Amino acid sequence: MKILFVTWELDPLIKLGGLGDVARTLPASVLDLGHDIRTILPFYKAIRFGKTKKKNISIFEMDFVGKKEKVEIFQVLHPYNHVPVYLVRNKNYLDVAKNTDTFAFFCKAVVEAIMKEKLSFTPEIIHCNDYHTGLIPLLLKLNNLSTKTLLTIHNLAYQGRSGLDILEKLGVEKSNARLFKWEIKSKQVNFLVEGIIHADIINTVSPSYAKEILTEEYGAGVDDILRGKEGRLFGILNGIEVGLRSRHSNSFIAYPYLNNDIAGTTSKHKKIFSWQEGKKLNKILLQKRLKLTVNPNIPLSAFIGRFASSQKGLDILHRMLRRVNLNKMQFVILGTGDKDWEERFQWLSSFYPKSISTNFVFDEKLARLIYAGADFMLIPSKFEPCGLIQMVAMRYGTLPIAHKTGGLKDSIKDNVNGFLFDKYSSYSLEHTLNKAIGIKTGDKERFDKMMREAMSTDFSWIRSAREYVELYQKLLSGQY
Ligand code: ADP
Repeated sequence: MKILFVTWELDPLIKLGGLGDVARTLPASVLDLGHDIRTILPFYKAIRFGKTKKKNISIFEMDFVGKKEKVEIFQVLHPYNHVPVYLVRNKNYLDVAKNTDTFAFFCKAVVEAIMKEKLSFTPEIIHCNDYHTGLIPLLLKLNNLSTKTLLTIHNLAYQGRSGLDILEKLGVEKSNARLFKWEIKSKQVNFLVEGIIHADIINTVSPSYAKEILTEEYGAGVDDILRGKEGRLFGILNGIEVGLRSRHSNSFIAYPYLNNDIAGTTSKHKKIFSWQEGKKLNKILLQKRLKLTVNPNIPLSAFIGRFASSQKGLDILHRMLRRVNLNKMQFVILGTGDKDWEERFQWLSSFYPKSISTNFVFDEKLARLIYAGADFMLIPSKFEPCGLIQMVAMRYGTLPIAHKTGGLKDSIKDNVNGFLFDKYSSYSLEHTLNKAIGIKTGDKERFDKMMREAMSTDFSWIRSAREYVELYQKLLSGQY
């Protein structure tokens, strides 16, 4: 099969969030399964190629806002996995991702590049990701192209709204965009909604989230539109990269221990510890580095994630921290975002600096030390389309304590490789943390078994890639 994977970020060329990781790893796994998959993204000014050689393969003109714009297509091989990558350059719209104009321009340029055969590749399927690519299915239809489309929704909360003038800029008649009355009233085009309506099939990043978004509670205002697509809406859980080149391999941690039962084994470069010993040493290092009381026996729980107050459960985490006995447990928080919430957590930690460490930065190195050193990973998200943090934590033997929702529910087995709580409340979170600490301190055998289970849970991408290939096959079978 020939698939074009359209994304607005791609690790390591440009990474802004979780989609960058998916765009790096999913196409690589589909390629491994023997399909011709290629990635396309905007050629932002900020992209750093390192040693990767880029080739200018074509150039064409495109109408946008009634003017002729120059579009150049470059091709590189992905530095880690050799998936061919196309980059679309235009200095007026794609140098910097400013607003929805960038994405509208990008969508049109992708469609024109296919129409004008500027990619040296004619895809049978276009795999769109999130609202940035939401206008592609509509533009394909308007140009009478029969290329099949899949839209993956990574997070329904981000929909990309723009004034109706975007349609004029694209040269699209208002009547073609199938706008809804409420949108006409507020004079908006919703990029994601356009994608949902016009894509042949849609998927989200976990089976549970695919069901949840059909409800008013999780539907982010578009549940009724999604309900109209029932039968064409699927859920596939993301994976994490687990190979040697993965960001989560032994080579990146101070005291390597992943998947290792026997102390003293040596790898080429470093001593490898048994997981019990490795975890303890990383925990002590973490406590020292963050100036917490150094004691490997104090239960240490962590939170890593964006400070997005409507999603990540900061309110219930904060309430719980105000109640618990901070002489008996420690907390490490790593995240950036909402400044009000940063301030609240900062204030709390200023009273208990030996028990609560707050770190409002994006720091992958510190994140890895936390994954390796913490006993528990708290993931109190109100909703979570997939979530990678629980998967990464489990790989490090750090047991997740999470709200039973979306991808958290689909990846954590309660009391087996982590803990889930039903009700979104600080009391449920606290109760579950206390239960987990009780097992850690009172039943070592059970706790070790859970850690072992967590470390051996398979979250590799190849499992997800197979499910995506099935979806691609469905698309080409003519069922949709
Ligand atoms: P989302 O995509 O909603 O941000 P995910 O759980 O899917 O949440 O992915 C978050 C990823 O970003 C994880 O790999 C996590 O380790 C990483 N991450 C989040 N915040 C930070 C931070 N402040 N520093 C380092 N890594 C972070």
